[in-house]
Amino acid sequence: MKYLLMCLISANTFAFVPAIEAVKIYNKIITVNNIKNAPTLIISVDDEINGYYSKKDKAVILNTGLLQELDENGIAMTIGHELTHAKYKHVNYLLQSSKSSQAQEYLADKEGKILVEKAGYDMCEGMKWMPKQGDWDHPDLKHRKRALKCK
Ligand SMILES: [Zn+2]
Repeated sequence: MKYLLMCLISANTFAFVPAIEAVKIYNKIITVNNIKNAPTLIISVDDEINGYYSKKDKAVILNTGLLQELDENGIAMTIGHELTHAKYKHVNYLLQSSKSSQAQEYLADKEGKILVEKAGYDMCEGMKWMPKQGDWDHPDLKHRKRALKCK
């Protein structure tokens, strides 16, 4: 397993703790679920609140801006979701219709929940930071939570 910790070189010590926490959670989810050929985890020093799977880099990319906003369930939720996109090699949303992309989002939530809960984290709790309103490739949060049978 390879990790790339780009944040540690910079003077951005504020990003250090959540980055280490994210590596621990990533490692736990990969290990507990026995995921082979897991994508690389890249922690990117970027204030934008974002995390995604990059097919080109074969990597799950988590921005420090995201990590600073989330608790451990939120980080685990994001990782489980993105690892499922990685498993199915979901491609760049820009090339897809909105409909197939939403189906992929539901799948990433559903299978992500299994990965996350096996590692002892709470997927539903982890979603509370997300914006309520969806966008053109993410369904509304209430629909995503209902699909996961969250309370
Ligand atoms: Zn997604």
